[in-house]
Amino acid sequence: MADATPLYDTYARAPLRFERGEGVWLVAEDGTRYLDFAAGVAVNSLGHAHPHLVSALKDQADKVWHLSNLYEIPGQESLSRRLTEATFADKVFFTNSGAEALECAIKTARRYHFSKGHPEKFHIITFEGAFHGRTLATIAAGGQAKYLEGFGPKAPGFYQVPFNDMPAVKAAITEETAAILIEPIQGEGGIRMVSKEFLQELRSLCDEYGLLLILDEVQCGIGRTGKLFAYEWAGITPDIMAVAKGIGGGFPLGACLATAEAAFGMIAGTHGSTYGGNPLAMAVGNAVLDVVLADGFLQHVRDVALVFRQGLASLADRFPDIIEEIRGDGLMLGIKARVPSADLLKAIRAERLLAVPAGENVIRLLPPLVTTAEEAREGLSRLERAAEQLTVERRKASA
Ligand SMILES: *Cc1c(COP(=O)(O)O)cnc(C)c1O
Repeated sequence: MADATPLYDTYARAPLRFERGEGVWLVAEDGTRYLDFAAGVAVNSLGHAHPHLVSALKDQADKVWHLSNLYEIPGQESLSRRLTEATFADKVFFTNSGAEALECAIKTARRYHFSKGHPEKFHIITFEGAFHGRTLATIAAGGQAKYLEGFGPKAPGFYQVPFNDMPAVKAAITEETAAILIEPIQGEGGIRMVSKEFLQELRSLCDEYGLLLILDEVQCGIGRTGKLFAYEWAGITPDIMAVAKGIGGGFPLGACLATAEAAFGMIAGTHGSTYGGNPLAMAVGNAVLDVVLADGFLQHVRDVALVFRQGLASLADRFPDIIEEIRGDGLMLGIKARVPSADLLKAIRAERLLAVPAGENVIRLLPPLVTTAEEAREGLSRLERAAEQLTVERRKASA
């Protein structure tokens, strides 16, 4: 069957088929229930079939689906207003995905310097282990050989420096540098945290050299760390920020946010998208914010995160042969495995718990933000059983 599929062979899919979802649970065709801490790779921020999201989408479906940006779209006005009121930003451009939000961020930064009379300033400094998407520009920004190979010349203007290496950042700045682009927490790179101090220093550097600071909060944004955006923990603000994943709660939606100054060059006709900001996406995006911005919601995320933190720390203590380290913040958590992470992932899937692989032999836990303390504990006991099982297997293998 598998080799007969007309689908591109670009994905190594697990042989699981899900029919429906309910909150943090996914139900397979055969009725088996899985605890979903993969959440569509941090996308299903409110879990599956959240009643408020379902009704927002259904209501909009009865009215109008799509218009294009030839006309005014009230949902864009309200969602952009709410996003700017809740963040550093003054301006918003809506996209359908994270990579497109990054494309807009990159174009905004280059166009800013162009409009200020410096077309030579188009270089962007990025960090090893980064992931910014799969378009030609964003694979160049991410700089990972495995994603660049075979796709022709790497798009110019991206310079990569080692992770958390401030002297290297300083040394990379030239007359042609336009911006610095960073994920406050590397997701796909292995849940690698950038320190508060590092982000603060990047902010100062950008101010000193007239560069724009671009944050990629596609994965860590929209409440995942227990603040609406991860940059808030560092007490800094970016000039431009890419958002996606959680903001759509499962509907394809992204956004590029910018200060009025940074968006200075993005005048009529410079950028566009047929679908970006369409009424269905706006209805869902607004509904996600209704929930995430409600009183007490982010506190809930921080409380449940603590349950995970403590539970994972204790698992790491008890299974040092399986777990090397716990990483991350809020509900963006990584387990660095001592065994091949694929084995751990398989073992936890056997316990009907879903998670996501990442770089550096890490598996990511990205539970929906609505996960309760009880569901968190259920997930932790499944992890514990998986670790026990792996321990038994390893003993057998070495006996
Ligand atoms: C997922 C992701 C992207 C790309 O988003 P797509 O919607 O897949 O294009 C970019 N940056 C980060 C940090 C991501 O996690």
